[in-house]
Amino acid sequence: MGNILIKGVLLQGRKRDILVTDNIISKIADSIEAEGATVIDGSKKAAIPGFVNMHTHSAMTLMRGVNEDSHLQEWLDIIWKMEPRLDEELIYWGTKLACLEMIKTGTTCFNDQYWMIDTAVKAISDMGLRSLNPYVFLDLFDQTKAEHLKKECLEIYSKSKDWDPLNRFAIAIHAPYSVSESSIRWASDFAREHDLLVHIHLSETKKENNDCLQQHGLTPTRYLQKLGILGPEVIAAHCVWIDDEDIPVLAENDVKIVHNINSNLKLCSGYRFKYKEFKDAGLTVSLGTDGCASSNNLDMLEAMKTTALLQKGWREDPTAMPLDELLDTATLNGARSLGLNCGKVEEGALADLVLVDINNYAFTPNFNFLANLVYSANSSCVDTVICNGKIVMQNRKVAGEEEILDRVNSIYKRLV
Ligand SMILES: [Zn+2]
Repeated sequence: MGNILIKGVLLQGRKRDILVTDNIISKIADSIEAEGATVIDGSKKAAIPGFVNMHTHSAMTLMRGVNEDSHLQEWLDIIWKMEPRLDEELIYWGTKLACLEMIKTGTTCFNDQYWMIDTAVKAISDMGLRSLNPYVFLDLFDQTKAEHLKKECLEIYSKSKDWDPLNRFAIAIHAPYSVSESSIRWASDFAREHDLLVHIHLSETKKENNDCLQQHGLTPTRYLQKLGILGPEVIAAHCVWIDDEDIPVLAENDVKIVHNINSNLKLCSGYRFKYKEFKDAGLTVSLGTDGCASSNNLDMLEAMKTTALLQKGWREDPTAMPLDELLDTATLNGARSLGLNCGKVEEGALADLVLVDINNYAFTPNFNFLANLVYSANSSCVDTVICNGKIVMQNRKVAGEEEILDRVNSIYKRLV
């Protein structure tokens, strides 16, 4: 790893030099000289933190557009029929395609939840991104399956010690409606014993809430509370149907919340995400895209724009999602939820950053850079991406891009 010196880049409204030493942003000043550093001309660019996509299913890039215009359960049935056909080659190239898309749209870190994580991690590592890779518990209340999952979880956990350290092992409990109580408890105990984060889908749909109330007499949140699995290590995706009594329960346990508006809208799961109530309760809220089978892309700028428009719209309040808070939900809050020192362009932070090309109509005039970024531009403005101090894209060029597209096009039909 060498040093990178970005000269004269727009950062929080001022032209600055940024020095990256190894994998850390080591210095930010008006003028820096650094002998031997790779110099990037930042004069027509702005620097922002790399986005942190807090909920996705990477290799679902292979299922982009497979079952449009259908209800969640019908959609899930089709997906669950396709998934047994996944093999290591499909996972590897599907994950690489996801990483390619994330790099092109400015994401440097993501929270994945998918199959064959050992293979996925190889792909992510080859692409140079930072990730959380939970082993997924989804037993559909089948005890034989549950036993198999526990055994495989132990095997992959021990293998994960040899992973590229940018990619961290974790536990995923798919959802309260798809995992047996005994597996939920086992997975949570395992996570606590080994100090691992836990990722879960929570209150994504009204049906899920109603079914849980009927079956357990409790909302999904309070059912998980009863099982004793809520805690600061839990990252809950969706949370569209969290009720007012659930919020203090989540807050007491410092559960991390992830909002995935494009997926929720597309699958008609709901859109009245209680950002204000979550924020007022002191909860950390971050953004995710969800997988490409539901949200169709992994574009965090698009997720930011939809989030802001929907919050303003359903609240009938133009102050419902200020731009600085919106940027935090897409960067810093995700990093905090993962316990990482990234998501900010500051001295001492991990060097995960993005240079945005501002030499175009979307940033002219540039009265308000963040407003231009979210509401005027699209992710084609992402020019250069640095992850952990390494350049993974410069001038919109990613190494191996053509091969990824060719390989995916040659194998994806095996799924259908
Ligand atoms: Zn999901």
